[in-house]
Amino acid sequence: MVSAAYIHIPFCSHKCDFCDFAAFAGVDHLTDDYEQVVLREIDDRIDLMIKDGRNFDDVALDSVFFGGGTPGLVSPKVLQSMLEKLSSRVRFAPDCEITIETTPHAITQEKMDAWKEMGINRISCGVESFLDEELKAMGRDHRSHEAYEGLAIACGSGVASVGLDLMYGLPTQTLASFEKSLACATGLTEQYSNLLHLSAYGLHLAENSPLYSRFPKGAAAYPPENLFVEMFELLVESFEGAGFKHYEVSNFAKPGFQSKHNMAYWQNKEYLAFGVSAHRYVGGVRSSNWRSLKRYMRDWMADETSEIVDQTTRMKEAIMLGLRLRSGIDTAAFNKEHGFDIVQRYEKEIEKFADSGYIELVDGRLALTRKGVPVSNSIISEFF
Ligand code: SF4
Repeated sequence: MVSAAYIHIPFCSHKCDFCDFAAFAGVDHLTDDYEQVVLREIDDRIDLMIKDGRNFDDVALDSVFFGGGTPGLVSPKVLQSMLEKLSSRVRFAPDCEITIETTPHAITQEKMDAWKEMGINRISCGVESFLDEELKAMGRDHRSHEAYEGLAIACGSGVASVGLDLMYGLPTQTLASFEKSLACATGLTEQYSNLLHLSAYGLHLAENSPLYSRFPKGAAAYPPENLFVEMFELLVESFEGAGFKHYEVSNFAKPGFQSKHNMAYWQNKEYLAFGVSAHRYVGGVRSSNWRSLKRYMRDWMADETSEIVDQTTRMKEAIMLGLRLRSGIDTAAFNKEHGFDIVQRYEKEIEKFADSGYIELVDGRLALTRKGVPVSNSIISEFF
């Protein structure tokens, strides 16, 4: 059953040097046309699904997510018309989480008021670092004072939930400078009672990004690899110490404020998606729209990629995503869904990692331990 919808807004004020998302600067003049195409796509896709036999009568979306790009940059009217269109075709649950992703300097009081008015109840703010030197080195076009200002408006508006994202493994970053950013983030959570979600992601260096040419992989400006585990441990200690529950490798939330949207992805639920490069999972098929803005706007119903997710892939994904969740895999539910006993099938791997303290099986849940989380990728890869 579909439980979430993603809408991609690709406009940005500046293309960050590390970014390989479908995000474009300098094409704001296309916003109105883009809006019209997304509205058409919402209708056309839902019509097609209904024609194929899907019934939306029992669907109630738990989450709608405006991601990008910088959805916070466009006029709120654009987002409102998309929300109205979507809600005219698919029901939203009464407690539907409606999130907007934004850079802090795109937040203004006027926009914040309009977002709240249209039902947006969650702001996800890409802060990345509270140190200007690091923001500059990674090619961001905002500075730390703008992060404070944007968060003050978002949190001060009384919106239900605000989240902020940080990054680590950045050029010029040290353990001490990362600690400063963590302290700024946790300090703000003391100041604002609705700052309820924190994330921190390791920098993924895309080979074709400008950052890669300025600071190639392995350049001395990056923190050495052996510091990553220390950074991660510092991160967990700091966010947990501020009362946030570590619920996924990179995500922390106050109880009850986990991202419903990301949980839908991690629990392998079906989700709709609209907009350039948007990825969906419906009816056992993962597909994505054209990544080229021009091509998408010409041909919004054509898939750039489409893959039937077979039983083996579904099982692998359930293990991979389940182990990234701190609550782990509910083995009874897994066994029922996939038709075999996960503990028996992976007895050797589980025993090996349990003996070294990386994994545990408690009350029928198979989960990484705190020691296992920083090396989750290598543990997960051994299952396959
Ligand atoms: S603001 Fe976000 S989406 Fe836009 S270019 Fe920067 S990292 Fe990419």
